Amino acid sequence: MKLYNTLTRRVEEFIPRDKKIVKMYTCGPTVYHYAHIGNLRSYIMEDILEKTLMYNGYKVNRVMNITDVGHLSSDSDTGEDKMVKSAKKQNKSVLDIAKFYTEAFFKDFEKLNIKKPETIEPATNLIDDYIKLITVLLEKKYAYKSGGNVYFDTSKLDDYYVLTNHKEDEMVVGAREGVENDSNKKNQADFVLWFTKSKFEDQELKWESPWGLGYPGWHIECSCISMKHLGEYLDIHCGGVDNIFPHHTNEIAQSEAYLGHKWCNYWVHCEHLNDKNGKMSKSKGDFLTISLLEEKGYNPLSYRLMCLQSHYRKQLIFTFENLDNAEQTYKKLRQRTLSLNEDGELDNAKFGYYKNEFLKCINEDMNTSSALTVLYDVLKDNDLNDFTKRELVRSFDEVLSLDLLKKDASKLDDETILYVEEKIKKRLEAKKNKDFLKADKIRDELLKKGIQLKDTKEGTDWVVIK
Ligand code: AMP
Ligand code: ZN
Repeated sequence: MKLYNTLTRRVEEFIPRDKKIVKMYTCGPTVYHYAHIGNLRSYIMEDILEKTLMYNGYKVNRVMNITDVGHLSSDSDTGEDKMVKSAKKQNKSVLDIAKFYTEAFFKDFEKLNIKKPETIEPATNLIDDYIKLITVLLEKKYAYKSGGNVYFDTSKLDDYYVLTNHKEDEMVVGAREGVENDSNKKNQADFVLWFTKSKFEDQELKWESPWGLGYPGWHIECSCISMKHLGEYLDIHCGGVDNIFPHHTNEIAQSEAYLGHKWCNYWVHCEHLNDKNGKMSKSKGDFLTISLLEEKGYNPLSYRLMCLQSHYRKQLIFTFENLDNAEQTYKKLRQRTLSLNEDGELDNAKFGYYKNEFLKCINEDMNTSSALTVLYDVLKDNDLNDFTKRELVRSFDEVLSLDLLKKDASKLDDETILYVEEKIKKRLEAKKNKDFLKADKIRDELLKKGIQLKDTKEGTDWVVIK
């Protein structure tokens, strides 16, 4: 299996440390608001990655954090804690806000068929671990106390910028959004490990520490949560491309300084989903959620398909036109897969051939769009029986997770779908026998029930019109 590794900037053969078990860490949501469909693009990619690994026979130990403290309104150390800001706005406690949006987040996972990671850890659970790690960094002189806070000293590393093309001069105040002058820092790139002094005195969650009452910086949580559950060595670390700097850069700095050896071998990042105005962003407040798409009548899995139609390392522009196309494609696809006969015998040779073709595609840095082409090749193969097609669809759907054989995924119940499919078959037979009267009668009968038929070159499509 090949993956693009941000660390080496190349597509590489993936070799986990343990031949059978992959240790995978994915940065979780900051739960101050709903996840937008851009965030969810990253989680869909990570889901495909985990399922591709499983399809290749690996067991995957996957861990995800929930950021409920420490993520300030800038990814650097400036601004107000996003959680506190949201809690104040809604007149609720930080933990209530966290609970509400964490639940909403996993509801979106269900709707998009994203597998929940085995281990999910809220950042506020491991305060003692952060204190221990920071204490060691201070002892090893990788960290220093200044102005009440504890900072990581980036000048102690040979290559702080190992994961990124950022350079020291870009850290100059004003060079990029969110860089403010902090006179406590020795170097502009240094970052906070523990805050006791904040511009915002009403930080709701604070803990005792050797450096005073305070709270952890954002980056430390992912290093500690990963080490607690996955140990000193990690195979894959994932996130969206905006996480590369400073978040993942800082994670590498503090983890490797603490451990004294290389921490993670493969860094996998998903490109952004943008809208016409640029990157979709939670903090802008005006964004699309899965619930909003549902309210507009879309099936969440059409959005999943839309993501799979493009490569995860390419930016994807969201338009409703694109989503409409994906919705139509998804409906047609399910009509075809659901109408496959359930009886028959497996054509072993062809099953093996197509499975191998599919595997080649997803193993090539998760090329989901060519994997979908293999699915279409299967459905188009006139020499392949329905039973084998069905088994191949079932197998591919272990990775794609598009509910291609799950009848109740549609808004219509199973019985209705089967009824419609049966009627379409009968109408086709009637047309073949030149019994056009009967064919028209079936079409009208369905129309009365709110099902409109459309004859295309590929066959008969249908849409629900009421
Ligand atoms: P957050 O909840 O803001 O911490 O982000 C959760 C995840 O979504 C992170 O892995 C981000 O890198 C990712 N992300 C944020 N914005 C986008 C976007 N527009 N497109 C794709 N992924 C994103
Ligand atoms: Zn993280």
